[in-house]
Amino acid sequence: MTTTADLGVLINRQAAPNNAMLSIYLNVDPPQTGSLNRHFEGELLARLRSIQEQLSNEAERRSFKASARRVRQFIARHKPTGQGLILFCSDHDSFFWWRDIQVPVRNEVRWNRRPQIRPLLELQDEFERYCIILTDREQGHLFTVFMGEIEQHLELVSSAEVKHSKTPGSDHLRSPMQFQRKANLHALWHLKKIVKLAERQMFLCPYDRLILAGPSETTGLLQRVLPKRLKARVVGSIALPVHATTQEILEATLNIEQSVEREAEVRLVDDLVVSASKSMRAITGLAATLLALNNGEIWKLVYAQDSNVPGKRCTLCDRLYGVDRLACGHCNKPLQAVDDLIELMVERLIKAGRKVEQVRGEASQHLMQVDGIGAFLRLRGRRPSQSVTAPGRSSARGSVHLHA
Ligand SMILES: [Zn+2]
Repeated sequence: MTTTADLGVLINRQAAPNNAMLSIYLNVDPPQTGSLNRHFEGELLARLRSIQEQLSNEAERRSFKASARRVRQFIARHKPTGQGLILFCSDHDSFFWWRDIQVPVRNEVRWNRRPQIRPLLELQDEFERYCIILTDREQGHLFTVFMGEIEQHLELVSSAEVKHSKTPGSDHLRSPMQFQRKANLHALWHLKKIVKLAERQMFLCPYDRLILAGPSETTGLLQRVLPKRLKARVVGSIALPVHATTQEILEATLNIEQSVEREAEVRLVDDLVVSASKSMRAITGLAATLLALNNGEIWKLVYAQDSNVPGKRCTLCDRLYGVDRLACGHCNKPLQAVDDLIELMVERLIKAGRKVEQVRGEASQHLMQVDGIGAFLRLRGRRPSQSVTAPGRSSARGSVHLHA
């Protein structure tokens, strides 16, 4: 399972001036565990060959060949267990990191001085962690889902008294009404107990979205006993049997999560565009966003899916510029061309503890009207390590955020 700590390892890896590394994203869906149809292996070999052919420096070629050999040996033995495989390898310092992931990825192989983490960040943003409480009046289950992987945290059974209440039998001293009241109290106690555990889970492994599942009568009751901070996180309720398999729970809830993510992105872009038009701590367009980045003013970057923006970087102070710029505005030094400004921006902001949100679908189309990029700005006078509340509620959710 990929964790935020993993991301920290990759983000904080310093670029070695003379040594590049391999970053590999492979689509292995459908999983092929046999020796046949390992299409991803052929795809990888072709991409590795193509990179090698472009390397003219003999030392770099040697270094690449050593890293590629290690990757090939790993892949030949590897039996994927997910839809995607992510791998970073540098033979220079024996760095080797890989994960099978349960969500689809696009094939990509890069040979660069830094690990290419933008696709991984975007996957973590798209498939962010959410929590599910699946319960009826007798049993409760708590799950979290992150990057398409479901994890069960607990199973709570408190059936005895409730079952008894359904068949009062020969206990003539108590009326059916008394038994019903007792059963209701017991169900309430059971629900409150699972709510406490969901709250505890939120502190152990923070999540912004909560889905309630189970018979509709129970989810309704559950909704009523939730404390405010959990209630604010509820994004949907679904009818599911309490004995549903993890696969059934995953499939039913992923759809909700994805549509909630799309809706949140539409609200976020609307908010960004309106705030920028009123100069309310927000800007849109590439030039303004780069200026804000160079001045350390960005609190949250928002960019459209599949944006690949070539640009330039100052060789002395690292400031970023558009392709038309000739020299650095700060130190007047010459600029170096870079393939993808977004990748560098995302990397810097995450490292500094700011937020980044990639938007897809309708939100992405809307954002493309303003260069496909914009940002919410920090409050003036705040120290860089502090997070501040952006205008609008939707913007506080669904973004990648790693404390520096
Ligand atoms: Zn400079």
